[in-house]
Amino acid sequence: MAKKKEGWKELPIGAIIVEPGSSRKFKTGDWREGKKPVVDKDKCTNCLFCWISCPDSAIIVKDGEMKGFNLDYCKGCGICFTQCPVNAIEMVDEEKE
Ligand code: SF4
Ligand code: SF4
Repeated sequence: MAKKKEGWKELPIGAIIVEPGSSRKFKTGDWREGKKPVVDKDKCTNCLFCWISCPDSAIIVKDGEMKGFNLDYCKGCGICFTQCPVNAIEMVDEEKE
């Protein structure tokens, strides 16, 4: 005899059927083409304009200090470069460091 399929009444209360999505799973850094940001910490004033401007939350900040870039998520858009008031960020060729 075929097993009877469960209906909605058999689902446990509060059950999550579909796993919620998360942008963390998508390494948008794969989209970067050619250029990546590099910071000159001697110039950086830790104003965090870059952090607030980055559309991919790819600026690493710890204890209020800008620490660099998470290249797993940085798409190389250059917005941080345009927003830095002291020109501490440079967009360099991927091969260069
Ligand atoms: S280049 Fe774009 S994605 Fe990468 S850290 Fe700067 S603002 Fe964020
Ligand atoms: S915008 Fe420039 S000065 Fe400000 S935290 Fe970022 S790199 Fe440093």
